[in-house]
Amino acid sequence: MGFKAKARKQKKDAGEEQKKSKSNTKVGELPCGVKDCENFADKSMGGRSLSIDDAIDMWGSNGYEMRKGRVRVCKSCYRKWKKENKNDDMY
Ligand SMILES: [Zn+2]
Repeated sequence: MGFKAKARKQKKDAGEEQKKSKSNTKVGELPCGVKDCENFADKSMGGRSLSIDDAIDMWGSNGYEMRKGRVRVCKSCYRKWKKENKNDDMY
């Protein structure tokens, strides 16, 4: 009179999903190309890219860092640039 005990090994998956906590602090990935600026130039943060010529006009040939032929600037730098380079089509 025996009984069979089946010991089943159940593989328990680690049920904890890694939840990436969303931090509210804005941290960008793309640093602003203007050298003395510490903001971020991510698109989601209003960053824009300017041409090299535009950057030289605004910050001089040593005042920016180039990325792939463009200069990524943060929102505030772009605003500054836009102020200095008012387009005719604004009127
Ligand atoms: Zn900037």
